[in-house]
Amino acid sequence: MPELPEVETVRRGLQSQVLKAKVAQIDVLYSKMITGNVDEFVKKLKGCRIEAIDRRGKYLLIRFSQGLTVISHLRMEGKYFVEKREKPVEKHTHIIFELTDGRQLRYNDVRKFGRMQLIKTGTEDMVPSIKKLGPEPTADKFDKQLFYTDLMKRKKAIKTALLDQTLVAGIGNIYADEILWLSKVNPQTPCNHLTKKETTLIREKTIEELAAAVEAGGTTIRSYIDAFQHSGSFQFNLHVYGKKGQPCERCQTPIEKIVVGQRGTHFCPNCQKVK
Ligand SMILES: [Zn+2]
Repeated sequence: MPELPEVETVRRGLQSQVLKAKVAQIDVLYSKMITGNVDEFVKKLKGCRIEAIDRRGKYLLIRFSQGLTVISHLRMEGKYFVEKREKPVEKHTHIIFELTDGRQLRYNDVRKFGRMQLIKTGTEDMVPSIKKLGPEPTADKFDKQLFYTDLMKRKKAIKTALLDQTLVAGIGNIYADEILWLSKVNPQTPCNHLTKKETTLIREKTIEELAAAVEAGGTTIRSYIDAFQHSGSFQFNLHVYGKKGQPCERCQTPIEKIVVGQRGTHFCPNCQKVK
């Protein structure tokens, strides 16, 4: 599942390829991909220009002229491709934005879990999925004190809390494991048992790790390749994720994999002791 760094990589790719492009027509081949009225989606976007590509958490916000925004959530496997019109449409392409310059912006999704929703620009904070998002994991938006206060109200494991997009936006399974290893905190630790020092460190590592992953173009696991066929390189910077049985880089203890909140979780039993 793409997490913040992978979605940000898609955003940058789209920005470099389709900014200012004008929509001639839209083909919706799988209507369930659109939240809301499909005819309206097609009719309203026809003739609009792509003016910007923004992101909030794991959501892309494609800004069109006429004050319109498409909220796009890639979920498990959603991908964008920009192709010449002549190129045959791939099997899992579900939405095609025909551009006036002869290209097509194609949305491809093997699992069909992704969703697009058309809204008026500026009303995104009223859309429930966006409204409930916690802060972006950046130094200026991710407040140290609020993070601590929020965690002290939670009894669930810190691993589970990091995946909860209402606490902080953008973290998925890979980066949650990495952040906790970097912070030397056991993933099963109940949030309200963490010390202030630990929550401060988790916040710092979250900001650093996601920024580093964005710079590397995200993590490429299995077949996940971004919209423009580039694969990110952050998989070479992972310390615990997918490394069960391999020695911890800090202490050589074999990395263990357990289940926390129904999610596979990697950690070092020596560096990340249960308190
Ligand atoms: Zn270790």
